[in-house]
Amino acid sequence: MEQIESLKTSQQIGLMREAGLVVAGALAVVRGLVAPGVSTAELNDAAYSCITDAGAKPSFLGYRDFPATLCTSVNEEIVHGIPSARRVLRDGDMVSIDCGAIVDGWHGDSAITVPVGEVRPQLARLIEVCTDAMWAGIAAAKVGGHLSDISAAVERAVKHAANKQGNSDRYGIVRGYGGHGIGTRLHEDPYLSNYGKAGRGPLLATGTVLAIEPMITLGSASTRELADGWTVVSKDGSAAAHTEHTFALTEDGVFVLTQPDGGSAQLGEAASGLCQG
Ligand code: MG
Ligand code: MG
Repeated sequence: MEQIESLKTSQQIGLMREAGLVVAGALAVVRGLVAPGVSTAELNDAAYSCITDAGAKPSFLGYRDFPATLCTSVNEEIVHGIPSARRVLRDGDMVSIDCGAIVDGWHGDSAITVPVGEVRPQLARLIEVCTDAMWAGIAAAKVGGHLSDISAAVERAVKHAANKQGNSDRYGIVRGYGGHGIGTRLHEDPYLSNYGKAGRGPLLATGTVLAIEPMITLGSASTRELADGWTVVSKDGSAAAHTEHTFALTEDGVFVLTQPDGGSAQLGEAASGLCQG
């Protein structure tokens, strides 16, 4: 059985929190810049400045020769899009922005999907479904639980949204890409699937730190990679959303390292419930 590669001490989680806050700050700035007419290279440059001004290093720049600070993935692009001055955002687009930063050797990793100008309601709903599924997954993580409890919660949330009365949208939970352990390396074991049966995989313990990142399309769950060797798109060209947070299991419950309030607003009672047992 795949194990949690390494449990982190509270001191190490403290350093990962610093990295997480740098990422959160960069994403907040970049979110504010997203508008029709802005290029994905401009978003990338802003994120680079935020991260380096904070004394941190971008996680992605140079990772397996990736050439940028951010991954920016527009519309049918799911993940790993390369920022470019030629890729200018248009009204009605949506853009997924993935950002990582390193503080004292420790990584934080988070992604948001942002509407550009006015988007059709279907896209706004897709972003909401992806975001809600991520939070449902985080809320399902607890000490003594299994890794796949998180996967099952993500899948359940997406199916619940698809079955909601009045919603005729179809959702694909992207196959072959998912979350991961994270620490002194951007990607550690275990792999965290966005679907599956609960009660499987390694046991979650205090000190577990994971990045959860559902990728949801308005159609196909299958993907293909573009000739640039990085950009992953939906096979059927349907739009895709991607949201991500890095979170830790601590003695006090779930703590979301890449969210300024630690996740308390979103997790609320779910988080305090986990604390009690
Ligand atoms: Mg990421
Ligand atoms: Mg990640």
